[in-house]
Amino acid sequence: MGMTDAGRPLHLFIISGDKTFDPAELHRKGKTILLIINGIHPGEPEGIDASAQFALDILKDTKGLKKYLKNTAIAIVPVYNIGGALNRSAYFRINQNGPDEKGARRNTRFLDLNRDFVKQESRDARSFAAIYSYLDPDLFLDTHTTNGSDHQFTVTLIATQPEKMFPEMEEYFRNRMLPALYDGMLTEQKNEMVPYVQYTDRGQIKAITGFNETPFYSTGYSALFNTFGFMTETLVYKPYAQRVKGTYQFITELVRFASRNSPDILRFRTKANQLTIAAKDYVLNWEQDDSRWDTVIYRGYMYEEGVAPISGRKTGFYNHEKPYVDTIKYFNYFKPALTVKAPEAYIVPFAWEEVIDRLKTNGVNMQQLETDTVLTVESYYIDKFEPVKRATQGHYYNSNVAVHSVTQKMNYFRGDYIVPVNQRANKYIVYMLEPQSEAGFFAWNFFDSSLEGQDWYSVWGFESHLKELLDHDAVLKAAFEKAKKEDEKVASDPVAQLQWLYEHTPASELEKRTNLYPVGRLINAGGLIK
Ligand SMILES: [Zn+2]
Repeated sequence: MGMTDAGRPLHLFIISGDKTFDPAELHRKGKTILLIINGIHPGEPEGIDASAQFALDILKDTKGLKKYLKNTAIAIVPVYNIGGALNRSAYFRINQNGPDEKGARRNTRFLDLNRDFVKQESRDARSFAAIYSYLDPDLFLDTHTTNGSDHQFTVTLIATQPEKMFPEMEEYFRNRMLPALYDGMLTEQKNEMVPYVQYTDRGQIKAITGFNETPFYSTGYSALFNTFGFMTETLVYKPYAQRVKGTYQFITELVRFASRNSPDILRFRTKANQLTIAAKDYVLNWEQDDSRWDTVIYRGYMYEEGVAPISGRKTGFYNHEKPYVDTIKYFNYFKPALTVKAPEAYIVPFAWEEVIDRLKTNGVNMQQLETDTVLTVESYYIDKFEPVKRATQGHYYNSNVAVHSVTQKMNYFRGDYIVPVNQRANKYIVYMLEPQSEAGFFAWNFFDSSLEGQDWYSVWGFESHLKELLDHDAVLKAAFEKAKKEDEKVASDPVAQLQWLYEHTPASELEKRTNLYPVGRLINAGGLIK
């Protein structure tokens, strides 16, 4: 199912009770589709073993599992990061309690695939996107191992930010699906699970904060397509076999829930997709809402001061002899930090090939202009942006982007792409094309060349034409005389005069093109969308 940067193809297994393997047909039959990917970080391989065991057991009908295939199909990518998995060492993830050898975190091109879901610079991610849009999964699970705090739980869970769903679906997710999964782990599997322990201060855990999943993460990506998304993060200090078992148990609970509740899940997704097609407002960035929280039962170990054995450094550690249980706050509410109103369509000039390719890979319907034309669009101008000092994922990632917009006529050419905001992939389209989104194409430097400057002039050639230029343009001449009176620099500095004149020639598109974000917003697409 598509190539990876390792030169080996991805594999996808689909387990289906009635041997229907076409995803669209499965959905027509009222079955949910669960997609599981493993080994995105191949040093965290418990999902690889857990999925293989689960596939074997459900096919052999161990413990009556097969009945769940009546209403759900299970698709498994056994190893997503194949390149990383081929690069093995006992010394990778050196702080981890097994297995004996682990794969490398980064793929063959040194990309962290769990940052590559939307920008898709690895072949792996582009192949994954093709799989994703083919399957259109209702539920999605990405399996990991977590570092960090130490506690009694083996399995911790990151679930999609519920507020990314429409209210009724959010209510169902928060109050039905998530409680059922936590309860299943506790009562059926006897292996209590806790939300991913993201904490602010090392030491005794007083509160857990929710995971702000931008779409470059797996569950952030799946949320763009209205999928119920999950990441298991099993605790790095627990023995490997225990982590495999915990992941297996969570898969079992997820399959059980998906099968028992397939009508609800499919109904919510259908409605979510309809709302997405019609949506006008899109939240680009979120922030934690500190004023709201739930509580969770937390089973920790007492944190004590101590001394590291080799370095003698004073440090703290979690004392396994002193377990405790506490009720703590869980801050899992987010509020919009930036919302935009989508246009009827975006227009992406043909030149931006990498952007167009990714839109296609993600199932975006587009059409090309048939003739050169002038269109009234809303253009963004980039007023400010800050590239990071040190590259991440091979990028000097742009953040703190400020823009202003101008409605103006712009030239477009035959072959440029109209991207209507009226489709299933709307969230991907808006998220990626809006320049202020935290992980859109602008943030990932896809458009940086547009900010580098414009045509210039040679001083002598320009000077020799000045008289002719001013003699033929009385308006320009008058404005120039006025500028010389009002601006001391223009009056005294011959180079400043040239600069002023160049910027004010009517033929110059300089001003219009300087810091122009190349993607236009068609507020009224008129007859352009067929
Ligand atoms: Zn991971």
